[in-house]
Amino acid sequence: MKTYPIYEIFVSVQGEGANTGRAAIFVRLAGCNVGCEWCDSEGAQSTKNAEWLTATEICSRLSRDVMLMPCSKPLPVIITGGEPTMYDLTELTDALHEAGHAVWVETSGTEPLRGTFDWICLSPKQHRPPLAENWERADEIKIVIGTEKDLEFVKELSTSNFQFIFTTRMEQPGDGATADYRLYNI
Ligand code: SF4
Repeated sequence: MKTYPIYEIFVSVQGEGANTGRAAIFVRLAGCNVGCEWCDSEGAQSTKNAEWLTATEICSRLSRDVMLMPCSKPLPVIITGGEPTMYDLTELTDALHEAGHAVWVETSGTEPLRGTFDWICLSPKQHRPPLAENWERADEIKIVIGTEKDLEFVKELSTSNFQFIFTTRMEQPGDGATADYRLYNI
């Protein structure tokens, strides 16, 4: 049976994009082939501290964690990373669906996306762009803006067939590295 490198599993509220405000279980995989300068999940870039679990073991963890939440139905599971496309997620997404969870993914889309997903958030990086097939499958596009070049990238995308909604966040006005625009096609 396949195992997946788990960096962390936690219950929280989605704070970004189209599903903002929805409670969800986050399954953060370890291992990343993208290497962003401004990475906010550095600990998850390597599998060195990961716990390798099967899909069944991950589902058991979720049952345990969800027991802490007064939910009437299973929460959606957001698979994030690291970079989730480094792994064939078919066994995991099948097991999660069987347990009644909707399955969402957040990915840079650098490799083929393997598995069945109910919502795909694509976060393209200019230095390591997504595969064409992943652009086509995206429900939502999220872009972190750290430089003028990133802004230009967003402007180019806004002339494509996507319809976007932008949100912007500036944590430290003027520091130039923390603005992010989140977009989704509707
Ligand atoms: S893709 Fe995510 S985990 Fe990987 S380097 Fe970029 S921000 Fe960090």
